[in-house]
Amino acid sequence: MKIIDAKIIDNLLSTHATADPARVDSVLDKARALQRLSLEETAVLMAADDAASTEKIFDTAADVKNTVYGRRVVLFAPLYISNRCMNNCSYCGFKTDNTAIKRISLTCNQIDEQVKYLLSRGHKRILMVTGEAASVNGKANIDYYTESIAAIYAAKVGPHAIKRVNINCAPLNTVNEFKKLKAAGIGTYQLFQETYHDATYRSVHLSGPKGDPDKRLDAIDLAFEAGIDDVGLGVLYGLYDYKFETLALMQHIEHLENKFNIGPHTISVPRIEPAEGADFTNNIPHAVSDQDFARLIAILRLAVPYTGLILSTRETAQARDRLINLGVSQISAESCTSPGGYGHEDTTNTQFELGDHRTLDQIIGSLISQKLLPSFCAACYRMDRTGENFMEMAKPGTIKGKCQLNGLVTLKEYIDDFASDEVKESGYKLIDEFAEHLDENTRQVLDNFFTHIAQGTRDEYV
Ligand code: SAM
Ligand code: SF4
Repeated sequence: MKIIDAKIIDNLLSTHATADPARVDSVLDKARALQRLSLEETAVLMAADDAASTEKIFDTAADVKNTVYGRRVVLFAPLYISNRCMNNCSYCGFKTDNTAIKRISLTCNQIDEQVKYLLSRGHKRILMVTGEAASVNGKANIDYYTESIAAIYAAKVGPHAIKRVNINCAPLNTVNEFKKLKAAGIGTYQLFQETYHDATYRSVHLSGPKGDPDKRLDAIDLAFEAGIDDVGLGVLYGLYDYKFETLALMQHIEHLENKFNIGPHTISVPRIEPAEGADFTNNIPHAVSDQDFARLIAILRLAVPYTGLILSTRETAQARDRLINLGVSQISAESCTSPGGYGHEDTTNTQFELGDHRTLDQIIGSLISQKLLPSFCAACYRMDRTGENFMEMAKPGTIKGKCQLNGLVTLKEYIDDFASDEVKESGYKLIDEFAEHLDENTRQVLDNFFTHIAQGTRDEYV
């Protein structure tokens, strides 16, 4: 597999097979100063799995998250537009060989209906997801994607519309196709390498275009070359050793930083979930324990402090509530992985099983009870604070003020328009608590926004 040097990783893992407490402390000092960690420093933390070091890693990760992002957590919903797929990924319910599911590609009208449902729940940010054979009637995939994105942005419920569409789809073929995706108004292009271990990659992707790991790695470069400067990387944890995967992910990031001067906007950390018709359901080859999973999330937070970390509803409510405090900055809510499934209580045709079945309102209530600030903000992308511009603000931690202000505005809008009585009560209280700590000028800006909300204006931001 290009870019990834497995020998370097294996050497680091054997050199740092056991914890070195003095070294751990010095690496944590560097991380607390928001400095990006090297591959070797990341390996030092991966080895430090004793109770005392783990506690220190967790505490530092929570500090770094608060320094860079404040207490805000961004919420989004995935929208599966198609489960048609020409690949045979052994772990996935959408794989070609799975005849147990009905194959569906949503039409623009069906997408409109699904988005209206999500808007009526209070959602403002969508991750569009699709299998790799999504289009029907011979249309090129890219044209189906851009039409679908347009349908998502066009859907309206009263004053509410989707503010940002991110997309998770198979590699496109050319820079030109990625340019079309950018022109359609996508925020982040997400693509998970699944596993950075060559032999494992080839053994779980037995047929279809996804069988070529280098094409998948190249896709992120192509997206950058097309001017998409927010990309999302990810590992499907459980396929191979999590320490190897995490260091390889760091190598991929170093490659992007060296070539394009920026790293990924987000990192996702899916763990394999059972999926109807897929392999591994009861036998995940390198299952990651809850404790190791928490450690790897905290270490990622420290290694790349300016990169958003995404945790999906694959994880249980309990696990998510804990992991949010270790550095996660974005979570999905009320998800359905079946195309057309929102509003229909349809549990068939799904990609995999979910762990968190709470409603958006319940998740917001839970975040509020932990004094976290639920946010539907998409201001950075709309103000051109993407790529290097975003990194320049995120690296010294100066993005936090804007995140907090925009988060408070979007939370007030959510509470006024959608919240249950219980969440209204706790939410208004939380807003007051946050507002008390703002300086006078910012407080004034917030008050002005709130006056506008009371007058019916929606979707203001800084
Ligand atoms: N089909 C495209 C692809 O594979 O790149 C994009 C969409 S795919 C539906 C999104 C991601 O779902 C995959 O990249 C994979 O990491 C994840 N996934 C697949 N099967 C899964 C499972 N059983 N449990 C958890 N995540 C899974
Ligand atoms: Fe298709 Fe993606 Fe599932 Fe693989 S992971 S079978 S490419 S939808």
